Formats: sequence, structure tokens, C-alpha cells
Amino acid sequence: MKSRFKAILIRKDDNVQTVQDVELTPADLMDGDVTVAVSHSTLNYKDGLALTARSPVVRRFPMIPGVDLVGIVADSTQPDFKPGDRVVLNGYGLGETHYGGYAELARVKGDWLVPVPDAFTLADTMAIGTAGFTAMLAVMALEDAGVTPACGAVIVTGAAGGVGSVAVALLAKLGYRVVASTGRPEEESYLKSLGAAEVIARAELAGEPRLLGKERWAGAVDNVGSRTLANVIAATSYGGAVAACGMAGGLDLPTSVAPFILRGVSLLGIDSVQMPMPRRRKAWERLARDLDMTKLAAMTRTIGLGEVRQAAEEILAGKIRGRLVVEIR
Ligand code: NDP
Repeated sequence: MKSRFKAILIRKDDNVQTVQDVELTPADLMDGDVTVAVSHSTLNYKDGLALTARSPVVRRFPMIPGVDLVGIVADSTQPDFKPGDRVVLNGYGLGETHYGGYAELARVKGDWLVPVPDAFTLADTMAIGTAGFTAMLAVMALEDAGVTPACGAVIVTGAAGGVGSVAVALLAKLGYRVVASTGRPEEESYLKSLGAAEVIARAELAGEPRLLGKERWAGAVDNVGSRTLANVIAATSYGGAVAACGMAGGLDLPTSVAPFILRGVSLLGIDSVQMPMPRRRKAWERLARDLDMTKLAAMTRTIGLGEVRQAAEEILAGKIRGRLVVEIR
């Protein structure tokens, strides 16, 4: 194990948050029973919020940000993991209350770790990352709610982003007719290459929400929230379901009970952070089976640790297409 390692550290002094490049020693890490040599992390929307202090994602200072990581076990006192094992971790407060993925070493609880499926390289695993994992959870929730390809189309909002791109690819491979909503018309051919059958403008769902609209889709994966989510719900067909994943357009939800009591529509909450381990493992297994790796490669770009601050601004501005992997070593 390295005696010194590189990390990014967020400090808060006199209520001012700064982001610094630092060198730490293993003794600086937080408590845990497994030490991981981190190979890759990623940049998710939440990492953008943490790095820019735009929202109080970080709840303990100083903090190593990075809400997900993959790597090789360097040291373990947890019986389920031994040195050399390939492991992935997302959620459980990583990068929020526990030192996260933007460091060459991480010490974490073995109970939080999932073995990397054989189908994936370490880089593939982070190309999926929190965003892809969340997209899988949303698709599984729609399936559990009885939304099958025969029920009708599924809309994905914020489609050109990370969660959106993986959701489009997964749903298309599973046989759903995918409607992709985007604010970037220039990404139409990209979204169609991932499997979208139809691409609609973000503006179509941004107006004053109606109580009920024309029934347009049987299911939805929503990354935007606010009026967009309200409009998506109002256009969901009888008995359909909407998976609420994100808030890129706002945390509010100006809707009514009409779609729920008149059309039996279900609103499904998706949380990746505290998802219990059995479903967590199931989601990674499903990703190994149901995600087209060529499409994953087409939606992924790799950056270095030194580039995450700039990329954080870009993701919050809605300018990142697909997924950003952060190469740590
Ligand atoms: P990205 O930034 O990659 O994707 C978000 C997309 O939303 C953008 O690409 C853009 O898509 C669209 N968008 C951005 N700003 C706006 C806006 N103001 N109004 C409408 N649409 C907008 O982020 P991620 O994919 O990493 O995350 C997506 C959302 O899901 C975030 O809110 C994130 O916090 C949440 N999330 C939730 C998780 C959970 O556990 N529930 C886990 C992971 C993420 P386009 O250009 O195509 O319109």
C-alpha cells in the first residue's frame, strides 16, 4: 500500500468552501474494515453540486468528494473481501459523510461493497457508476409496477445526461419504445443511436402543468422534477408508472392527485444511496445482462482528477453528454 496518496479535499473554513489537491497518508483515512486502491471514480450531478457548493451535499468537513468508486481491495479485515478482489461502491454517504472516490485510496465498510461483475472492466463499472446504477433501479421499479413493453412507450427526461443515457439504452435493449426528452436538439442522433425511437424537445414538457393530458406513455424515468415531472405524470396512460430519479430542473412538484385517482398512475421514488444490498447486487447483475456495452462506450468520456472542477461546472450547466469517468490511477 502506498505510504502517501493523492486526493481532492473539500474544506470549509469560516463558512467558505474550498477544493484543494492534497497528499494524504493511509492514517488520514476514516474508519472502515476494507481499504481499496481506487482506479476510477466518476462525475455525477451530485458531485457537481458538492464540488461547487451549489447545494449542501457534503455534510462533514473536510471531505474527499466522489460519490462512487471502483478498485482493488488492498487490505481487509472483513471476511467477505480479500486483497485483490475487484469491488464497486456507490452511495452510503460516500463523498457526503464518508471520504469518497476522488483519492487513490479509500477505507470503507465492507458491508457497502459489491463485487464487480465478471462482465465488466473496472473502467466499464464506473462508466455505469451511480448514474447507470440509478437508471437500472428505475427500470426495475417500472418492471415491478407492471410496465412492460406491450403497455406502451416509456419517456426518459434529461435523456442526454448520465442517468438518461443509460436509461434509454437499457429500455431500448429490453424492447420498450423509448421517447427521449432533451433540451439539446443537437443530441437527437446520439439519442437515436442509443435506441430512442422518438426525440422530443424539453420545452414540450416545461409549460404550466395540466391536471390530465393526452395519454402518451405507459412509463417514465424522470431526471428533471418540477414542471417536467408534473407534465410527464399528467400524460401517463391508465395504470402506468413514473420513476422519479432526479431534480435537474428543480425540487418542486406542481402536480395534483388527478392522475393518481382518475388514472391509477403510480409515482415511484428512486433512491440509490441507501438501497438495501440484495437489490443493489441484483441491479449490478441486471446491468451485466441488460446493458449494451457498445452503447455504454459511446456515451462515455474519461477525464483526469485535475479536470473534475471544470467538469463540475459543466454538468450543472447541463452540458455533459452521457457519462464522465474519472481516472484515478
Ligand atoms: P446529468 O447532468 O448528466 O443529467 C441531467 C440532465 O437533465 C441534463 O443532461 C439535461 O438533459 C437535463 N437538464 C439539466 N438541467 C435542466 C433543467 N434546468 N431543466 C430541464 N432539464 C435539465 O446528471 P445525472 O444524470 O448524473 O443526474 C440526473 C439527475 O438524477 C440529477 O438531478 C441527479 O441529482 C439525480 N440522481 C439521483 C439519484 C438517486 O439516487 N435518486 C442518483 C443519481 C442521480 P438534456 O440536455 O437531455 O435535456
